[in-house]
Amino acid sequence: MVFEYLKDMRESIDYGTRINYCLHSLAFHSLREMVEYKPAWNGIPSDEVDPEYTSQRCPRTECQHTERGNRDKKRFKCQQCKFQDDSDRKVAVCVIQNWFEQ
Ligand SMILES: [Zn+2]
Repeated sequence: MVFEYLKDMRESIDYGTRINYCLHSLAFHSLREMVEYKPAWNGIPSDEVDPEYTSQRCPRTECQHTERGNRDKKRFKCQQCKFQDDSDRKVAVCVIQNWFEQ
């Protein structure tokens, strides 16, 4: 199980004062510990990875084209090879790719 290391997340989002306050109050470390608990019980290790470009990079190994325009909210479409996917699912693939490359 691999987590993105989102150290800048709280500074880079702005959903308005009230929601910002709630997000700033979240204990990300505690949340991660709760999520890790069950896999760890079954011997499944976890780690974290630099999230750099996971939302913008094409996951196809022969492409890897990276640009902001690849992502349109919930939809990912590579501007170079035209690969398409759900943005969140594609990010999960890129997180694993970053982990293997670190
Ligand atoms: Zn591509």
